[in-house]
Amino acid sequence: MRMRIMLLSVLISVIGLTMYAMISVQIYGGYETDLVIRSLKVYAKMYERSDGADAEVAGELSEKLEGVRITFLSADGTVIADSEIPSLAGTDHSDREEFREAVATGEGSAVRESASAGMASVYYCKKAGDIYLRISVEAISTWGLLYGMLPMLIWLIVLEALLCGICAYIFTSIILKPVQELVKKAALHEKTESKYKELKPVADAMNRLTEALEEKMQEIESEKEQVVKANASKNEFIANITHEMNTPLTSIKGFAELLTTNLSDEQRKKAIKVIIGQGDRLANLVECVINYNQLDNDDLPPYEVNVSKIVAETAEILAPDMEKRGIKLIRETEENVTVMSRHERVVEVFGNLLRNAIKYNKENGTIRILLKGGETPVLRVEDTGIGIAPENKEKIFDRFFTVDKSHGGKHGGFGLGLAMVKKICNRAGWNLIVESELGVGTAFTIEFTHGKNVA
Ligand code: ADP
Repeated sequence: MRMRIMLLSVLISVIGLTMYAMISVQIYGGYETDLVIRSLKVYAKMYERSDGADAEVAGELSEKLEGVRITFLSADGTVIADSEIPSLAGTDHSDREEFREAVATGEGSAVRESASAGMASVYYCKKAGDIYLRISVEAISTWGLLYGMLPMLIWLIVLEALLCGICAYIFTSIILKPVQELVKKAALHEKTESKYKELKPVADAMNRLTEALEEKMQEIESEKEQVVKANASKNEFIANITHEMNTPLTSIKGFAELLTTNLSDEQRKKAIKVIIGQGDRLANLVECVINYNQLDNDDLPPYEVNVSKIVAETAEILAPDMEKRGIKLIRETEENVTVMSRHERVVEVFGNLLRNAIKYNKENGTIRILLKGGETPVLRVEDTGIGIAPENKEKIFDRFFTVDKSHGGKHGGFGLGLAMVKKICNRAGWNLIVESELGVGTAFTIEFTHGKNVA
């Protein structure tokens, strides 16, 4: 860019100087011709008609006037005598511009290229009685003037080009410096500023660009992080499933092998019971995993779901389990409370909460179910169970997290229930709140916020 500016300014200055020289020469040449014609007019006054008009008079007058050329012409334009070229006598000069003008107005002038290079002949013709007197001198022509100026002009052009080149270099350096500083800062992703008001829009544009770039980079970075997290979580999920499957499978294999040995009827029955039990657990796990994974691909449209009905039906289905443990159920549920979702999702959420309230309750404990309609329907499941330690309050929603680590143990859960509840609530935009005190009980509350109806 700098080179281009330099070349351009050199070119402009060279063109400018050349034009200036040509115009000056034209103007100066014009003045010069006027001056010569005026001198010729003064010379013409020195001639009196009474002096005669032959070759001798012409020669004398020419000598008196330091060698100017004198020509006498008759009224019809025939040369009577010429001080410089006597042989012209008798030739017709009636077509000459200065003569024709003199015939018309009494005097005339003309400039013609001379035989010698760079010179021009200036003519002045004046009526003198019945003849015409023509005086002429050689003066330098416009081209002659230009030619004479040429060496100086070339030097001037070279000097000017050099000066312009240096100036352009300095100016471009001054102009480019703040721009280069802006670019340098932008390259370092720093906020740029310029003390020059002309560069302010450029700095602002660069800042906007840097910000946009920064945002994009952060987006890419966070997308990358999410992909890494998703991969890690997928691997962890697979590892957990494998681990959960391993326990019943080992058990089934062990007891199946036992069956091939000599066992008493009682031992055989016990082994078969264990195999069936572990088989059920395995099937249960597979079902849980399938249900959990299906949620990710479930984009089915929501519709109005009657939560009151689901609560009543689920409580009825689980009544035998509550009975077995002597649990008392208190239901404070409004009728016909609806939310925008899908039947199976609400069943999954409430089913998990109620099953947990039974599983983790004390013998002869109490479960209270609250359901309230309105702008934001609320469902609350309270129990008087073992409670959740504060450090586990967040973890219980993680996949495969169980407080009781002996998986096949007392409660036998896989730790997928609450993960599923949380996933459904998150996707629907519902608030899921857990309150618990160790040894006192737990309460799960869902606020079916209508802000995000799509479940
Ligand atoms: P699980 O199949 O083990 O019940 P969940 O995801 O439903 O899996 O629950 C995760 C863990 O949270 C449970 O193992 C349990 O320790 C704890 N938990 C869930 N609900 C309750 C509750 N109502 N009272 C006490 N602990 C609970």
